Amino acid sequence: MGAVTRVLIASAAGAELLASVSCGANNSAVPLPDNRWADLARRLTGRLVRPGAPDYAALALPNNLRYSSVLPAGIALCENAQDVSRSILWAREFNVPLVARSGGHSYAGYSTTTGLMIDVRNMNAVRFDPSTGVITLAGGARNANVYSGLRPHNVAITHGRCYDVGIAGLVLGGGVGFNMRANGVTSDQLIGTEIVAADGQIHSLSEKQNRDLFWACRGAGGGNFGIHTSFSFLTFPVNRITVYNLTWAQHPDDVFTALLRALDAAPDTLGCKVVIAAPTAAQQALGKDITIHLLGQLRGTPGELADILQPIYRIARPTGEISELPYWVGQDFLSEEGAPEFFHEPSRFFNESISDGAISTILDGIRRWPGTTKAASFKLFQTGGAMNAVPAAATAFVHRESAWLSSVGLVWEESDSSAEVQRNLEWQRAFYEAYIPFAGGGAYQNFIDPSLRDWKREYYLSNLSRLEAVKSRVDPTRVFRFPEAIPPS
Ligand SMILES: Cc1cc2nc3c(=O)[nH]c(=O)nc-3n(C[C@H](O)[C@H](O)[C@H](O)COP(=O)(O)OP(=O)(O)OC[C@H]3O[C@@H](n4cnc5c(N)ncnc54)[C@H](O)[C@@H]3O)c2cc1C
Repeated sequence: MGAVTRVLIASAAGAELLASVSCGANNSAVPLPDNRWADLARRLTGRLVRPGAPDYAALALPNNLRYSSVLPAGIALCENAQDVSRSILWAREFNVPLVARSGGHSYAGYSTTTGLMIDVRNMNAVRFDPSTGVITLAGGARNANVYSGLRPHNVAITHGRCYDVGIAGLVLGGGVGFNMRANGVTSDQLIGTEIVAADGQIHSLSEKQNRDLFWACRGAGGGNFGIHTSFSFLTFPVNRITVYNLTWAQHPDDVFTALLRALDAAPDTLGCKVVIAAPTAAQQALGKDITIHLLGQLRGTPGELADILQPIYRIARPTGEISELPYWVGQDFLSEEGAPEFFHEPSRFFNESISDGAISTILDGIRRWPGTTKAASFKLFQTGGAMNAVPAAATAFVHRESAWLSSVGLVWEESDSSAEVQRNLEWQRAFYEAYIPFAGGGAYQNFIDPSLRDWKREYYLSNLSRLEAVKSRVDPTRVFRFPEAIPPS
């Protein structure tokens, strides 16, 4: 296993922030002469983008700006699986570290490198077969492509809300979304995928072909075993839904408690995210307290939603909007751009309903936010339902007994000093560590956290040793590696 070292990465403002990068044996970016890069360019159907090219900066940029100073020596803009294969073989030949890039939304910047970025964004074709209900997406498709591919057919999969998140990263780490309680996580709907392995060979994976690797890719695949060039999903039909985006500014503690209790009893046809937003410094100066937000969808009517939320309405009336809409119009209401920003967001699954002790720890923790020029929040995504009907060992996605997925969001800007950012990160760590003893579950591998202790266990729990065995078989020399990559056993 390559050694992991900690390096200082300068943000654009000069604020120095800690980030992990892998410095393994073949991950030391030795500069290669230009003629070697020209050789790679000749091998590709797509384009090789080098520093100085007009679109280089935009292509290199990760969603988490914390890692924006890690710049690739070259970006292979692949057009097909053969391009991906040639890129892997070239990188191996010249000992250049490589990473896959799809949507670029890794929380920890794990699709950045100083070596070769193998970027599949141009491979975004979508094909839907109405006779089987199967949608096949090329490896670089994003949520926006999923939306446009499924919308005309009134079908869906469990997808995210952010247009630019890559389907590759999403499904390979599980994939949570408002449909998961009714239909399972995204990887539960995956029925086949194509992968380019460390030796450049292209393989089809399914329950019938390369079963063990298919198992591993359903929840633990992002960056670990190869580069995926297509995904096939079994869709489900969708109809009208009630979407809602509500805010409570009055009696936040009572509202939060009552909301969690009411949602614990809600049907699996309800998908939601509960957020406690900390007031900014300007809001605090005006005497503002935390606010409670509820966003999501119900496969039911506004009247049925009102029945679920009655106990909270008795405490305080929210502001916001509730609309009954066709499913995909409802997604226009729920979706967001998710523009690049500086952030850190550790996560933890709660395996039971959130206790009174946990609630007071959470309310106390969020109120201690020191403040950046941007935002801090505590987030809860309601899990359970169909997600928990799948046995933990059936796929690599192991988190099958949870009731909630929590995270502590912290966002800052270039103008925040490194001392301020450090103080905020310390607050975030202390808050997270104060409430995780109440949680009982692991951490979500798609909210990948470079500062998480015991990350292998927290992401993969009882599936870890089988994953390490798969890694030993398909990539024993760790061609695919990053600081939190699954090691061979
Ligand atoms: C704004 C935002 C919104 C989000 N919303 C959700 C959500 O609703 N639900 C949810 O579950 N998660 C969500 N996430 C988390 C998201 O699922 C993960 O960050 C995911 O890894 C992003 O995938 P990507 O392709 O965009 O990122 P990338 O950074 O491109 O890739 C992520 C990891 O997968 C690897 N990888 C990329 N492409 C491939 C490939 N083709 N084959 C193999 N490995 C590959 C990369 O090397 C990297 O290790 C969100 C993240 C952000 C920043």
